[in-house]
Amino acid sequence: MSELKIFRAKYIYPVSSPVIEDGIVATAKGRIIAVGPYRQLKDLGVVFDLGEVVLMPALVNAHVHLELSALKWRLTPTGSFISWVKSLIKGRTEVGEDEAKEAAWQAVREMWHEGVGVIADIGNTPLALSALESSPVEGIFFREIINFRNGSREFKELVGLGRTPGIRISLSAHSPYTVSPLLLQAIKAWTRSRRSIFSIHVAECPEEVLFLKEGSGPIRFLLEERGQWNPSFRPPEMSPVAYLHSLGLLDQRTLCVHVVQVDLEDLELISRTGASVCLCPRSNTFLGVGLPPVERFLALGIRPALGTDSLASNDRLSIFAEMATVARFFPRIPPEEIIKMGTIYGARALGLERDWGSLEQGKRAAFLSLRIDGLGLAAEDLAGFLTTSSHPPELSWIYG
Ligand SMILES: [Zn+2]
Repeated sequence: MSELKIFRAKYIYPVSSPVIEDGIVATAKGRIIAVGPYRQLKDLGVVFDLGEVVLMPALVNAHVHLELSALKWRLTPTGSFISWVKSLIKGRTEVGEDEAKEAAWQAVREMWHEGVGVIADIGNTPLALSALESSPVEGIFFREIINFRNGSREFKELVGLGRTPGIRISLSAHSPYTVSPLLLQAIKAWTRSRRSIFSIHVAECPEEVLFLKEGSGPIRFLLEERGQWNPSFRPPEMSPVAYLHSLGLLDQRTLCVHVVQVDLEDLELISRTGASVCLCPRSNTFLGVGLPPVERFLALGIRPALGTDSLASNDRLSIFAEMATVARFFPRIPPEEIIKMGTIYGARALGLERDWGSLEQGKRAAFLSLRIDGLGLAAEDLAGFLTTSSHPPELSWIYG
């Protein structure tokens, strides 16, 4: 069995089971075939001893917009979500295609160097597809639809999805306030028929709540200004999450991104329908929209994934940095739970749990090795260490 590779490490952090001290991960043909203590598995074959490292699963970035990567440092937080949206729209017109493509490449490289193995990318254009396609990461591309004026009749021409080898393709609706209700349902029907994930920004900013309650405020003005206002739209007079539920959009293959402006009823709806959640705490902080009630999510059995959102509202695309941010703002959440958000919960939210998210038999043999020489870490210190190091220690990829 020449493909067999056996890696020994001071610690194995499988995520799905307790830390193993002096452990082994064995791989063959690109899959993990065994994880366990060295003393039990040492006779499997020739062991490659990695020394003072911790092996852990690849991280999952469940929400990013690679096509916006060239906007890094070009937009500043203004404290107003709508001002930021306007500067984003303007900023995009100032970036050439080659520059945007190069920045997307750079962004994928940056994520890979920081241990991200799965990227869920949202794009209005297929610009970043080639960056995803030729990278070692697993990519899901969500073609994002923004259209508040039209109904489902125009849906087909809006979609226009081509096939890209090696990349899973799905659809995303930008938000409840930028996509018409009929179109929201058409997009969900499309993804449902293909058993793929439907992603949508929801309950991100207070302006969204106001718009859906009253049909007024800065979002209404923005839609009118951009020629996107639909005079037949009647505000549902409910919260963003309740509105999605009323349209039949919440189920186990819906990924709700942000989920900041929520109350207990909203969270119970998410919990009851089994919809997934992706939190982007550093983007929320950048935009000043508040933070999601992460402890309440967990108390209700909702298991959030983590995303970075784009470099238009974040200075890094690092899941280590997102985990550190959750740890800093929510110190009562156990660090072990935060690592699950960056790994297994992300894989689950994207329908990729079979391959990613933990070190277990049968999963992809593509995982991380972090050097911890001289740090004197005990097994029980590892989770805390991994969630407070927003810049991880020397990290390398192990491919079996
Ligand atoms: Zn986003």
